[in-house]
Amino acid sequence: MIVVMRPHASEEHVRHVVDLIREYGLKEHIIYGTDRTVIACIGDKRTVDKGAIENAPMVDRIVPILSPYKMASTEVKKARTEIPIGPGRFPIGGKKVGLIAGPCSVESREQLLKIADAVKSAGGIGLRGGAYKPRTSPYSFQGLGVEGLKILAEARDRTGLAIVTEVTSLENLEAVAQYADVLQIGARNMQHFPLLEACGKVAKPVLLKRGISATLEEWLLAAEYIINAGNQQVILCERGIRTFEDYVRNTLPLAVVPELHDKTHLPVLVDPSHSTGHAHLVPAMCRAAAAAGADGLLIEVHHDPEHAASDGAQSITPAQFADMMPTLRRIAQAIGRDL
Ligand code: PEP
Ligand code: MN
Repeated sequence: MIVVMRPHASEEHVRHVVDLIREYGLKEHIIYGTDRTVIACIGDKRTVDKGAIENAPMVDRIVPILSPYKMASTEVKKARTEIPIGPGRFPIGGKKVGLIAGPCSVESREQLLKIADAVKSAGGIGLRGGAYKPRTSPYSFQGLGVEGLKILAEARDRTGLAIVTEVTSLENLEAVAQYADVLQIGARNMQHFPLLEACGKVAKPVLLKRGISATLEEWLLAAEYIINAGNQQVILCERGIRTFEDYVRNTLPLAVVPELHDKTHLPVLVDPSHSTGHAHLVPAMCRAAAAAGADGLLIEVHHDPEHAASDGAQSITPAQFADMMPTLRRIAQAIGRDL
């Protein structure tokens, strides 16, 4: 349930309600809106005397939260959440569409710095690249580990780009959290609940990819795990789902973007690379995602896709990345946004 305070309720009034909620064994999440404060109460509500809370000073009303995910829901918070990332504090979820690009994996210092410079000069705001790679086969390249994280940090110092890199297990969370600006949780780990909770205790934004066969509700419940553990900075990323279709690696369900904007206040990115698996499809899907209202794009870019250690087939080149920009900007502007 949500306790909606009257406009001008003081911090003391809010505290009083929080104390009452805790007395009933519930946990509070306070959301400060522009004109009023709401307190979402999480836990078993059966023993709560709603009348007592409703009568507390400056309480307007109590409303139930109907959706299974609570804190992620627009029922609790209507205003879109903006999440500043990286040294530039670029607000993901704001008016501008944020472009995060880079290789699938960090392969070497030379490779990453070259791509980082290209991403920066084309207008990207974030650099992606896996140091720990969740590979389908145990024989595939598994990533450079801490050495890769250090290279990413060097690229951030050099370009000012926000570093987005994947945490694949509880074992590498501490290292990833030390170097990354945004912790990526991959499709394969979307329901790794201990990892979600552990990322919920880190004071850094989390980019949560959709599981390969997860429903929208399961995905939002995964986001709820992170928020419930204490971290409200969750960015959702659609990366395609598995269907019977096989001309693409995954199927990109773009209607998820407006649907998520209806159901949740969290920002929504689209990854057109894993969503298609083919570089020649990526620019058109970037345009379509921007038109559908995506708050940002996560794109695989490699200067030499033919020799990439992973996902070369879906990686576009720095030149193709830069070529997309003018059209993407016009599309963003056509729907009242910008790049
Ligand atoms: C990636 O971004 O390189 C990746 C492994 O993505 P996903 O988890 O979506 O497969
Ligand atoms: Mn990849």
